[in-house]
Amino acid sequence: MLNLTKSAAAFAEAKTLLPGGVNSPVRSYRSVGCTPPFIDHAKGSKIYDIDGNEYIDYVGSWGPMVVGHAHPQVVAALQAAAERGTSYGAPTLLESELARLVMTVYPSIEVIRMVNSGTEATMSALRLARGVTGRDKIVKFIGCYHGHSDSLLVKAGSGLATFGVPDSPGVPKGTAADTITAPYNDAEAITRLMAAHGHEVAAIIVEPVAGNMGLVLPKQGYLAVLRQLATQYGALLIFDEVMCGFRASAGGAQAAYGITPDLTCLGKIIGGGLPVAAYGGRRELMNQVSPAGPVYQAGTLSGNPLAMTAGLATLRILTAEPAPGEPDYSRVLTLKTKKLTLGLEALARAAGVPVQVHQAGSMFGLFFSAQEVYDYATSAASDQEAFKVWFRTMLEEGIYLAPSQFETIFMSGAHTDEDLNQTLAAAEKGFAAVAASRQ
Ligand SMILES: *Cc1c(COP(=O)(O)O)cnc(C)c1O
Repeated sequence: MLNLTKSAAAFAEAKTLLPGGVNSPVRSYRSVGCTPPFIDHAKGSKIYDIDGNEYIDYVGSWGPMVVGHAHPQVVAALQAAAERGTSYGAPTLLESELARLVMTVYPSIEVIRMVNSGTEATMSALRLARGVTGRDKIVKFIGCYHGHSDSLLVKAGSGLATFGVPDSPGVPKGTAADTITAPYNDAEAITRLMAAHGHEVAAIIVEPVAGNMGLVLPKQGYLAVLRQLATQYGALLIFDEVMCGFRASAGGAQAAYGITPDLTCLGKIIGGGLPVAAYGGRRELMNQVSPAGPVYQAGTLSGNPLAMTAGLATLRILTAEPAPGEPDYSRVLTLKTKKLTLGLEALARAAGVPVQVHQAGSMFGLFFSAQEVYDYATSAASDQEAFKVWFRTMLEEGIYLAPSQFETIFMSGAHTDEDLNQTLAAAEKGFAAVAASRQ
């Protein structure tokens, strides 16, 4: 039995200090009904709680830790940077360096603005889209999450899906009214919607690989339809690649699917575990952002030297030229993830537990469902009780997963073959527990 005595006491105390004991809702483990391990430290593929338990970590801080925790190159770069001062609020060479590195893998980004969170990136991209088009309405897809700004907190997946809060109190009705929602992966629905409202729409914003209703891949040709509709109606197409950026492929979903958005939002990996996100795109659009243009957006800690350093160190590892004849870093991640997803599928089948396993590069997800999952409704129809049983067994076995099947699971370069085998052995017990719970 997993001993979480210290974590339970720490959680009880934290609940008197922070709303629900946490600084971001999903960390509370409310949806799986157990105590969240309080984390002491992490190294490579492993994470350790204050009770002394060791886990193989597939949360990876919800995506950023793609090269593993406390990677020696990242740590050394951060230590050296800290010695030089932690913030200046003035331009540095680091910002241009990170900008250039991002642009080498995202050619659709000609000018970029660094911010501190994915929420800020999407919120600012929308302001820019509204500013340049002179239109107020935006289109988002049901189950896609783009951070917690007012306009985007409408029918927004994961945490909200898990907690069953469709909209948040505090979002003005007028603001929500400017957000039009459509089902994901339904080309006909968005075509109809744009035919009715297209001329009022500033932007279509989408997770091109959706990771906040569980991992849901775009159907063949779907993103091309969005591209075509945005162009036809003079709206901007915004790819929110805060999660799938650098993961669906090194160049994100836009490279994987060959679709060029007008604006791209990045986050998570771009900061290598420090708070960084960014939005960028075509020069004439981005040059409308202040001080180059009239669309205001600013940030005291934006482009922070420690944050830029962690992002640079991480992206350098991720984008390094492989040795001749060797696969590159992203390819290795994809192959490792494939080994795990194929293994999970086979084990679930053997246990007689129907699942849908999805993968995009180093992202993967698993739904306890016998039917195909392609949008929010089909995702939400998955068996949540089965997930709870599976999750708790995995945690007992030392596998640290996101506490909801509406979250994506992440592979890192630090995960070893041994880690994967241990994970599959645990998963076998997990599926057996699910099968037993159904008898
Ligand atoms: C995580 C996420 C965000 C929000 O980023 P924060 O840094 O948590 O504000 C936005 N969009 C997507 C697709 C995300 O996965």
